[in-house]
Amino acid sequence: MVVIGLGRFGRSLALELADEDTEVLGIDENPEVVQLLSGSLTHAVRADSTKEDALRQLAVHEFDRAVVAIGTDLEASILTASLLISFGIENVWAKATSEAHGRILTQLGVQHVVYPEHDMGQRVAHLVRGRMLDYI
Ligand code: ATP
Repeated sequence: MVVIGLGRFGRSLALELADEDTEVLGIDENPEVVQLLSGSLTHAVRADSTKEDALRQLAVHEFDRAVVAIGTDLEASILTASLLISFGIENVWAKATSEAHGRILTQLGVQHVVYPEHDMGQRVAHLVRGRMLDYI
């Protein structure tokens, strides 16, 4: 499994997978982030994921599962997702920060688009509602 972008979302995802004994290649362009996670993931590497050569050097095209966990930088998210799709990776997940972002990712051919902030908001609403029912 490749996780690209090791911000709060990508880091949490990568560490959880690594805890379950999944081999995880984590990629981030920020050397401090990579340094921080180097002991916890199978491999943590500094690279710009919008560069095809960089991804090929890391053999990303040979994986069958990858997650694009870059949100704020729309251009980096889209360019990275586009490369993963062009590699023919069977299962690509990507985080979207807005509906428009998600639509573009789907149009590129990303199989699984996730909206962490939106989904977590819904989950918390269910929890709050459940807690409110406890008092009725
Ligand atoms: P979170 O909420 O999960 O922290 P975010 O959407 O606020 O995420 P982003 O700025 O989108 O954070 O980036 C998440 C991570 O992706 C950062 O650690 C950033 O260094 C990394 N990143 C951004 N662009 C690239 C890129 N082109 N190549 C590799 N890593 C990148």
